[in-house]
Amino acid sequence: MKGVAVLGSTGSIGVSTLDVLARHPDRYRVVALTAHRNVGRLIEQCRQHRPAYAVIVDKDEAAHLRQAVDDLRLPTRVLSGKEALDTIASLEEVDHVMAAIVGAAGLQATLSAARAGKRILLANKEALVMSGRLLIDTAREHGAELLPIDSEHNAIFQCLPPKRHVSDDGGVTRILLTASGGPFLRTPASELADVTPEQACNHPNWDMGRKISVDSATMMNKGLEVIEACLLFDTDPDKVQVVVHPQSIVHSLVQYVDGSVLAQLGNPDMRTPIAHALAWPGRIDAGVTPLDLPAVGRLEFEAPDQARFPCLRLAFEAIRHGATMPAVLNAANEVAVEAFLDRRLGFDGIPMVIEQVMSKAETPAAASLDEILAVDRQAREQALQVIGRMQKGTGT
Ligand code: NAD
Ligand code: MG
Repeated sequence: MKGVAVLGSTGSIGVSTLDVLARHPDRYRVVALTAHRNVGRLIEQCRQHRPAYAVIVDKDEAAHLRQAVDDLRLPTRVLSGKEALDTIASLEEVDHVMAAIVGAAGLQATLSAARAGKRILLANKEALVMSGRLLIDTAREHGAELLPIDSEHNAIFQCLPPKRHVSDDGGVTRILLTASGGPFLRTPASELADVTPEQACNHPNWDMGRKISVDSATMMNKGLEVIEACLLFDTDPDKVQVVVHPQSIVHSLVQYVDGSVLAQLGNPDMRTPIAHALAWPGRIDAGVTPLDLPAVGRLEFEAPDQARFPCLRLAFEAIRHGATMPAVLNAANEVAVEAFLDRRLGFDGIPMVIEQVMSKAETPAAASLDEILAVDRQAREQALQVIGRMQKGTGT
Protein backbone atom coordinates (compact mmCIF):
# COMPACT_ATOMS: atom_id res chain seq x y z
CA MET A 1 0.00 0.00 0.00
CA LYS A 2 1.51 3.33 -1.09
CA GLY A 3 0.51 6.65 0.49
CA VAL A 4 -0.04 9.44 -2.05
CA ALA A 5 -0.11 13.23 -1.62
CA VAL A 6 -1.68 15.14 -4.50
CA LEU A 7 -0.40 18.73 -4.63
CA GLY A 8 -2.86 20.69 -6.78
CA SER A 9 -5.63 18.08 -6.50
CA THR A 10 -8.37 20.42 -7.74
CA GLY A 11 -6.67 21.03 -11.12
CA SER A 12 -6.88 19.06 -14.34
CA ILE A 13 -3.92 16.76 -13.48
CA GLY A 14 -5.08 16.47 -9.85
CA VAL A 15 -8.54 15.30 -10.90
CA SER A 16 -7.08 12.76 -13.35
CA THR A 17 -4.75 11.49 -10.63
CA LEU A 18 -7.62 10.93 -8.20
CA ASP A 19 -9.51 9.09 -10.94
CA VAL A 20 -6.60 6.64 -11.37
CA LEU A 21 -6.10 6.26 -7.60
CA ALA A 22 -9.81 5.50 -7.06
CA ARG A 23 -9.47 2.55 -9.46
CA HIS A 24 -6.85 0.94 -7.18
CA PRO A 25 -7.91 1.28 -3.53
CA ASP A 26 -6.00 -1.92 -2.77
CA ARG A 27 -2.69 -0.32 -3.87
CA TYR A 28 -2.93 3.40 -3.03
CA ARG A 29 -4.15 5.43 -0.09
CA VAL A 30 -4.84 9.15 -0.59
CA VAL A 31 -2.99 10.74 2.34
CA ALA A 32 -3.21 14.43 1.43
CA LEU A 33 -4.96 16.78 -0.97
CA THR A 34 -4.13 20.44 -1.60
CA ALA A 35 -5.81 23.35 -3.38
CA HIS A 36 -5.13 27.03 -3.84
CA ARG A 37 -8.64 28.42 -3.28
CA ASN A 38 -11.19 26.09 -4.92
CA VAL A 39 -12.61 25.01 -1.57
CA GLY A 40 -15.84 23.60 -3.04
CA ARG A 41 -14.03 21.04 -5.15
CA LEU A 42 -11.58 20.26 -2.35
CA ILE A 43 -14.45 19.48 0.06
CA GLU A 44 -16.02 17.18 -2.52
CA GLN A 45 -12.65 15.41 -2.99
CA CYS A 46 -12.22 15.05 0.79
CA ARG A 47 -15.69 13.51 1.03
CA GLN A 48 -14.82 10.96 -1.64
CA HIS A 49 -11.20 10.12 -0.72
CA ARG A 50 -11.16 10.73 3.07
CA PRO A 51 -7.51 11.93 3.20
CA ALA A 52 -5.66 12.33 6.50
CA TYR A 53 -4.75 15.92 5.51
CA ALA A 54 -6.25 18.66 3.37
CA VAL A 55 -4.46 21.92 2.63
CA ILE A 56 -6.12 25.09 1.43
CA VAL A 57 -3.39 27.61 0.63
CA ASP A 58 -5.73 30.62 0.79
CA LYS A 59 -6.09 31.18 4.55
CA ASP A 60 -9.43 32.97 4.10
CA GLU A 61 -11.01 29.69 2.98
CA ALA A 62 -9.64 27.57 5.84
CA ALA A 63 -12.59 28.12 8.21
CA HIS A 64 -15.03 27.05 5.50
CA LEU A 65 -13.04 23.85 4.88
CA ARG A 66 -12.77 23.07 8.63
CA GLN A 67 -16.50 23.49 9.04
CA ALA A 68 -17.26 21.16 6.13
CA VAL A 69 -14.81 18.52 7.41
CA ASP A 70 -16.52 18.66 10.84
CA ASP A 71 -20.03 18.53 9.39
CA LEU A 72 -19.10 15.51 7.26
CA ARG A 73 -17.27 13.87 10.21
CA LEU A 74 -14.20 13.26 8.06
CA PRO A 75 -10.89 11.97 9.49
CA THR A 76 -9.14 14.92 7.82
CA ARG A 77 -6.82 17.45 9.43
CA VAL A 78 -7.08 20.85 7.77
CA LEU A 79 -3.97 22.98 7.23
CA SER A 80 -3.63 26.30 5.44
CA GLY A 81 -0.98 28.63 4.06
CA LYS A 82 1.78 27.81 1.62
CA GLU A 83 4.16 26.42 4.27
CA ALA A 84 1.63 23.60 4.78
CA LEU A 85 2.52 22.33 1.29
CA ASP A 86 6.07 21.59 2.49
CA THR A 87 4.71 19.73 5.51
CA ILE A 88 2.50 17.58 3.30
CA ALA A 89 5.23 16.84 0.76
CA SER A 90 7.50 15.42 3.45
CA LEU A 91 5.04 13.45 5.61
CA GLU A 92 6.30 10.09 6.81
CA GLU A 93 3.20 8.26 5.56
CA VAL A 94 3.56 9.69 2.03
CA ASP A 95 5.46 7.56 -0.51
CA HIS A 96 4.43 9.28 -3.76
CA VAL A 97 4.00 13.02 -4.28
CA MET A 98 2.06 14.17 -7.34
CA ALA A 99 3.49 17.64 -8.11
CA ALA A 100 0.55 19.14 -10.02
CA ILE A 101 0.54 22.76 -8.84
CA VAL A 102 0.80 25.12 -11.79
CA GLY A 103 3.74 27.51 -12.14
CA ALA A 104 6.56 28.67 -9.91
CA ALA A 105 4.27 28.32 -6.87
CA GLY A 106 4.94 24.57 -6.92
CA LEU A 107 8.73 24.72 -6.68
CA GLN A 108 9.26 24.80 -2.92
CA ALA A 109 6.93 21.91 -2.12
CA THR A 110 8.47 19.84 -4.92
CA LEU A 111 11.92 20.53 -3.48
CA SER A 112 10.64 19.47 -0.05
CA ALA A 113 9.45 16.18 -1.54
CA ALA A 114 12.90 15.72 -3.10
CA ARG A 115 14.65 16.40 0.22
CA ALA A 116 12.36 13.88 1.89
CA GLY A 117 13.37 11.22 -0.67
CA LYS A 118 9.88 10.67 -2.11
CA ARG A 119 8.85 9.37 -5.51
CA ILE A 120 7.91 12.62 -7.28
CA LEU A 121 5.41 12.43 -10.11
CA LEU A 122 6.42 15.64 -11.86
CA ALA A 123 3.67 17.44 -13.77
CA ASN A 124 4.75 20.92 -12.62
CA LYS A 125 7.25 21.59 -15.44
CA GLU A 126 7.71 25.25 -14.44
CA ALA A 127 9.30 24.12 -11.16
CA LEU A 128 11.93 22.13 -13.05
CA VAL A 129 12.55 24.80 -15.71
CA MET A 130 13.15 27.54 -13.15
CA SER A 131 15.20 25.44 -10.78
CA GLY A 132 17.59 24.12 -13.42
CA ARG A 133 19.86 21.48 -11.89
CA LEU A 134 18.73 22.23 -8.32
CA LEU A 135 15.68 19.96 -8.30
CA ILE A 136 17.49 17.14 -10.15
CA ASP A 137 20.54 17.33 -7.87
CA THR A 138 18.44 17.55 -4.69
CA ALA A 139 16.47 14.47 -5.75
CA ARG A 140 19.65 12.56 -6.52
CA GLU A 141 21.28 13.56 -3.25
CA HIS A 142 18.32 12.39 -1.16
CA GLY A 143 17.43 9.27 -3.15
CA ALA A 144 14.15 10.71 -4.47
CA GLU A 145 12.78 9.39 -7.77
CA LEU A 146 11.72 11.97 -10.36
CA LEU A 147 9.21 10.45 -12.79
CA PRO A 148 7.84 12.62 -15.61
CA ILE A 149 4.08 13.09 -15.96
CA ASP A 150 4.27 15.43 -18.93
CA SER A 151 3.04 13.07 -21.65
CA GLU A 152 6.04 13.68 -23.93
CA HIS A 153 8.63 13.14 -21.22
CA ASN A 154 6.80 10.14 -19.89
CA ALA A 155 6.89 8.73 -23.45
CA ILE A 156 10.62 9.47 -23.75
CA PHE A 157 11.24 7.87 -20.34
CA GLN A 158 9.49 4.74 -21.61
CA CYS A 159 11.54 4.66 -24.84
CA LEU A 160 15.00 5.39 -23.39
CA PRO A 161 17.43 2.68 -22.29
CA PRO A 162 17.55 1.88 -18.54
CA LYS A 163 19.90 4.75 -17.58
CA ARG A 164 17.30 7.22 -19.01
CA HIS A 165 20.04 9.39 -20.50
CA VAL A 166 20.83 10.59 -23.98
CA SER A 167 24.35 9.20 -24.10
CA ASP A 168 26.71 7.48 -26.47
CA ASP A 169 26.93 4.32 -24.41
CA GLY A 170 23.18 3.81 -24.66
CA GLY A 171 23.26 4.53 -28.40
CA VAL A 172 20.68 7.35 -28.22
CA THR A 173 21.28 10.08 -30.80
CA ARG A 174 18.19 12.27 -30.58
CA ILE A 175 14.91 12.97 -28.84
CA LEU A 176 11.93 13.77 -31.04
CA LEU A 177 9.49 15.83 -29.00
CA THR A 178 6.02 15.90 -30.50
CA ALA A 179 3.75 18.96 -30.36
CA SER A 180 0.07 19.17 -31.30
CA GLY A 181 0.61 22.73 -32.55
CA GLY A 182 -2.29 23.95 -30.38
CA PRO A 183 -5.48 25.71 -31.48
CA PHE A 184 -3.68 28.16 -33.81
CA LEU A 185 -1.62 25.69 -35.83
CA ARG A 186 -3.15 26.98 -39.09
CA THR A 187 -4.05 30.54 -37.99
CA PRO A 188 -2.34 33.19 -40.17
CA ALA A 189 0.16 35.41 -38.33
CA SER A 190 -1.96 38.50 -39.10
CA GLU A 191 -4.87 37.09 -37.03
CA LEU A 192 -2.87 36.08 -33.95
CA ALA A 193 -2.96 39.59 -32.44
CA ASP A 194 -6.73 39.43 -32.03
CA VAL A 195 -7.25 35.95 -30.54
CA THR A 196 -9.11 35.86 -27.22
CA PRO A 197 -8.37 33.92 -24.01
CA GLU A 198 -11.41 31.72 -24.78
CA GLN A 199 -10.01 30.78 -28.20
CA ALA A 200 -6.54 30.19 -26.76
CA CYS A 201 -7.89 27.90 -24.01
CA ASN A 202 -9.86 25.78 -26.48
CA HIS A 203 -7.26 23.08 -27.17
CA PRO A 204 -8.14 20.59 -29.95
CA ASN A 205 -6.89 17.41 -28.17
CA TRP A 206 -6.34 18.03 -24.46
CA ASP A 207 -8.53 19.44 -21.67
CA MET A 208 -6.08 21.31 -19.42
CA GLY A 209 -5.74 24.22 -16.98
CA ARG A 210 -5.82 27.74 -18.45
CA LYS A 211 -2.12 28.54 -18.07
CA ILE A 212 -0.84 25.45 -19.91
CA SER A 213 -3.59 25.91 -22.52
CA VAL A 214 -2.27 29.38 -23.35
CA ASP A 215 1.28 27.98 -23.34
CA SER A 216 0.16 25.36 -25.86
CA ALA A 217 -1.37 28.07 -28.05
CA THR A 218 1.88 30.13 -28.08
CA MET A 219 3.96 26.92 -28.22
CA MET A 220 5.80 28.10 -25.11
CA ASN A 221 4.58 24.82 -23.65
CA LYS A 222 6.81 23.01 -26.14
CA GLY A 223 9.64 25.43 -25.35
CA LEU A 224 9.36 24.68 -21.63
CA GLU A 225 9.29 20.99 -22.54
CA VAL A 226 12.53 21.27 -24.55
CA ILE A 227 14.20 22.65 -21.41
CA GLU A 228 12.49 19.99 -19.29
CA ALA A 229 13.83 17.26 -21.60
CA CYS A 230 17.39 18.65 -21.49
CA LEU A 231 17.32 18.60 -17.67
CA LEU A 232 15.55 15.28 -17.14
CA PHE A 233 17.50 13.32 -19.72
CA ASP A 234 20.84 15.10 -19.39
CA THR A 235 21.19 16.29 -22.94
CA ASP A 236 21.79 19.49 -24.87
CA PRO A 237 19.14 21.24 -26.98
CA ASP A 238 20.85 20.30 -30.26
CA LYS A 239 19.74 16.72 -29.64
CA VAL A 240 16.08 17.68 -29.15
CA GLN A 241 13.94 18.10 -32.27
CA VAL A 242 10.39 19.45 -32.04
CA VAL A 243 8.01 17.73 -34.47
CA VAL A 244 4.43 18.96 -34.95
CA HIS A 245 1.99 16.04 -34.84
CA PRO A 246 -1.59 17.37 -34.82
CA GLN A 247 -3.29 14.10 -33.76
CA SER A 248 -1.45 13.83 -30.37
CA ILE A 249 -1.29 10.03 -30.63
CA VAL A 250 2.51 9.64 -30.79
CA HIS A 251 3.56 11.22 -27.50
CA SER A 252 7.30 11.42 -28.36
CA LEU A 253 10.13 9.33 -29.82
CA VAL A 254 13.75 8.36 -29.21
CA GLN A 255 16.21 7.84 -32.07
CA TYR A 256 19.11 5.39 -31.80
CA VAL A 257 22.46 5.19 -33.57
CA ASP A 258 21.42 2.10 -35.54
CA GLY A 259 18.52 3.96 -37.19
CA SER A 260 15.83 2.64 -34.82
CA VAL A 261 13.23 5.11 -33.62
CA LEU A 262 11.12 4.04 -30.64
CA ALA A 263 7.82 5.76 -29.91
CA GLN A 264 5.12 5.59 -27.25
CA LEU A 265 1.58 5.89 -28.56
CA GLY A 266 -1.84 6.17 -26.94
CA ASN A 267 -5.03 8.16 -26.87
CA PRO A 268 -4.43 11.68 -25.51
CA ASP A 269 -5.40 11.08 -21.87
CA MET A 270 -3.15 12.14 -18.98
CA ARG A 271 -4.28 9.13 -16.93
CA THR A 272 -1.80 7.02 -18.97
CA PRO A 273 1.39 8.81 -17.83
CA ILE A 274 -0.08 9.21 -14.33
CA ALA A 275 -0.76 5.47 -14.02
CA HIS A 276 2.64 4.69 -15.53
CA ALA A 277 4.52 6.83 -13.01
CA LEU A 278 2.45 5.58 -10.07
CA ALA A 279 3.05 1.91 -10.82
CA TRP A 280 6.50 2.05 -12.43
CA PRO A 281 8.19 -0.36 -13.05
CA GLY A 282 4.84 -2.20 -13.01
CA ARG A 283 1.69 -1.36 -14.99
CA ILE A 284 -1.86 -0.71 -13.81
CA ASP A 285 -5.17 0.01 -15.52
CA ALA A 286 -5.66 3.75 -16.11
CA GLY A 287 -9.25 3.70 -17.37
CA VAL A 288 -8.05 4.93 -20.76
CA THR A 289 -9.84 3.86 -23.95
CA PRO A 290 -7.52 1.51 -25.89
CA LEU A 291 -5.98 3.01 -29.01
CA ASP A 292 -7.79 2.05 -32.21
CA LEU A 293 -5.31 2.84 -35.00
CA PRO A 294 -7.61 2.14 -37.99
CA ALA A 295 -10.13 4.55 -36.41
CA VAL A 296 -7.40 7.19 -36.04
CA GLY A 297 -6.44 6.55 -39.66
CA ARG A 298 -3.72 9.12 -40.22
CA LEU A 299 -0.70 10.22 -38.24
CA GLU A 300 0.86 13.40 -39.63
CA PHE A 301 4.17 15.10 -38.86
CA GLU A 302 5.59 18.48 -39.87
CA ALA A 303 8.22 21.01 -38.84
CA PRO A 304 7.11 23.81 -36.47
CA ASP A 305 6.74 27.35 -37.82
CA GLN A 306 9.17 29.31 -35.65
CA ALA A 307 8.20 32.62 -37.27
CA ARG A 308 4.58 32.39 -36.10
CA PHE A 309 5.55 30.84 -32.75
CA PRO A 310 8.55 32.87 -31.49
CA CYS A 311 8.16 31.40 -27.97
CA LEU A 312 9.75 28.20 -29.19
CA ARG A 313 12.83 30.10 -30.41
CA LEU A 314 13.02 32.02 -27.12
CA ALA A 315 13.03 28.79 -25.11
CA PHE A 316 15.85 27.35 -27.24
CA GLU A 317 17.76 30.60 -26.70
CA ALA A 318 17.20 30.41 -22.94
CA ILE A 319 18.52 26.87 -22.57
CA ARG A 320 21.47 27.56 -24.90
CA HIS A 321 22.29 30.66 -22.86
CA GLY A 322 22.12 28.51 -19.74
CA ALA A 323 22.62 29.74 -16.13
CA THR A 324 19.33 31.23 -14.84
CA MET A 325 17.96 32.32 -18.23
CA PRO A 326 15.32 29.52 -18.19
CA ALA A 327 14.06 30.93 -14.86
CA VAL A 328 13.82 34.39 -16.47
CA LEU A 329 11.94 32.97 -19.47
CA ASN A 330 9.55 31.11 -17.18
CA ALA A 331 8.83 34.07 -14.91
CA ALA A 332 8.27 36.51 -17.80
CA ASN A 333 6.00 33.96 -19.46
CA GLU A 334 3.90 33.42 -16.31
CA VAL A 335 3.37 37.18 -15.93
CA ALA A 336 2.61 37.66 -19.64
CA VAL A 337 0.13 34.76 -19.74
CA GLU A 338 -1.68 36.11 -16.69
CA ALA A 339 -1.89 39.54 -18.33
CA PHE A 340 -3.26 37.95 -21.52
CA LEU A 341 -5.88 36.00 -19.54
CA ASP A 342 -6.87 39.28 -17.80
CA ARG A 343 -7.08 41.02 -21.21
CA ARG A 344 -4.28 43.44 -20.32
CA LEU A 345 -2.01 42.10 -23.10
CA GLY A 346 -2.61 40.84 -26.63
CA PHE A 347 -1.74 37.27 -27.59
CA ASP A 348 1.16 38.42 -29.78
CA GLY A 349 2.40 40.54 -26.85
CA ILE A 350 3.36 37.41 -24.89
CA PRO A 351 6.60 36.67 -26.82
CA MET A 352 7.39 40.40 -27.06
CA VAL A 353 7.34 40.73 -23.27
CA ILE A 354 9.48 37.64 -22.77
CA GLU A 355 12.03 38.71 -25.38
CA GLN A 356 12.40 42.17 -23.83
CA VAL A 357 12.80 40.78 -20.32
CA MET A 358 15.36 38.22 -21.51
CA SER A 359 17.36 40.84 -23.41
CA LYS A 360 17.94 42.88 -20.25
CA ALA A 361 18.15 40.11 -17.68
CA GLU A 362 21.06 39.40 -15.41
CA THR A 363 21.46 35.66 -15.25
CA PRO A 364 23.87 34.49 -12.58
CA ALA A 365 24.64 30.78 -12.53
CA ALA A 366 22.47 30.27 -9.45
CA ALA A 367 22.98 27.31 -7.21
CA SER A 368 20.60 28.00 -4.33
CA LEU A 369 16.85 28.36 -4.05
CA ASP A 370 17.21 31.92 -2.75
CA GLU A 371 19.24 32.96 -5.80
CA ILE A 372 16.70 31.38 -8.14
CA LEU A 373 13.81 33.08 -6.34
CA ALA A 374 15.62 36.44 -6.61
CA VAL A 375 16.04 36.01 -10.40
CA ASP A 376 12.38 34.96 -10.65
CA ARG A 377 11.22 38.02 -8.69
CA GLN A 378 13.28 40.44 -10.76
CA ALA A 379 12.07 38.98 -14.07
CA ARG A 380 8.45 39.31 -12.87
CA GLU A 381 8.97 42.98 -12.01
CA GLN A 382 10.60 43.60 -15.39
CA ALA A 383 7.75 41.86 -17.20
CA LEU A 384 5.14 43.97 -15.39
CA GLN A 385 7.03 47.13 -16.35
CA VAL A 386 7.23 46.08 -20.01
CA ILE A 387 3.49 45.30 -20.03
CA GLY A 388 2.77 48.69 -18.40
CA ARG A 389 4.75 50.48 -21.12
CA MET A 390 3.01 48.48 -23.86
CA GLN A 391 -0.39 49.46 -22.43
CA LYS A 392 0.59 53.11 -22.54
CA GLY A 393 1.74 52.59 -26.11
CA THR A 394 5.24 53.81 -25.37
CA GLY A 395 6.84 50.59 -26.58
CA THR A 396 10.19 49.81 -25.04
P1 NAD B 1 -4.79 23.64 -13.26
O1 NAD B 1 -4.81 25.11 -13.37
O2 NAD B 1 -5.96 22.87 -13.77
O3 NAD B 1 -4.57 23.22 -11.73
C1 NAD B 1 -3.60 23.83 -10.95
C2 NAD B 1 -3.64 23.31 -9.52
O4 NAD B 1 -2.65 24.05 -8.78
C3 NAD B 1 -4.98 23.56 -8.80
O5 NAD B 1 -5.24 22.50 -7.92
C4 NAD B 1 -4.74 24.85 -7.99
O6 NAD B 1 -5.51 24.89 -6.81
C5 NAD B 1 -3.26 24.71 -7.66
N1 NAD B 1 -2.62 26.02 -7.51
C6 NAD B 1 -2.67 27.06 -8.40
N2 NAD B 1 -1.95 28.11 -7.93
C7 NAD B 1 -1.46 27.73 -6.74
C8 NAD B 1 -0.66 28.38 -5.76
N3 NAD B 1 -0.24 29.65 -5.90
N4 NAD B 1 -0.33 27.70 -4.63
C9 NAD B 1 -0.76 26.43 -4.46
N5 NAD B 1 -1.52 25.76 -5.36
C10 NAD B 1 -1.87 26.40 -6.47
O7 NAD B 1 -3.45 23.14 -13.98
P2 NAD B 1 -3.16 21.74 -14.68
O8 NAD B 1 -3.56 21.79 -16.09
O9 NAD B 1 -3.64 20.61 -13.82
O10 NAD B 1 -1.55 21.75 -14.68
C11 NAD B 1 -0.80 21.51 -13.51
C12 NAD B 1 0.67 21.37 -13.89
O11 NAD B 1 0.81 20.21 -14.71
C13 NAD B 1 1.21 22.54 -14.72
O12 NAD B 1 2.54 22.79 -14.37
C14 NAD B 1 1.13 22.03 -16.15
O13 NAD B 1 2.12 22.62 -16.99
C15 NAD B 1 1.41 20.55 -15.94
N6 NAD B 1 0.84 19.70 -16.99
C16 NAD B 1 -0.51 19.66 -17.18
C17 NAD B 1 -1.04 18.87 -18.19
C18 NAD B 1 -2.54 18.77 -18.40
O14 NAD B 1 -2.98 17.99 -19.24
N7 NAD B 1 -3.36 19.51 -17.70
C19 NAD B 1 -0.19 18.12 -19.01
C20 NAD B 1 1.19 18.18 -18.78
C21 NAD B 1 1.69 18.97 -17.76
MG1 MG C 1 3.24 17.96 -22.52
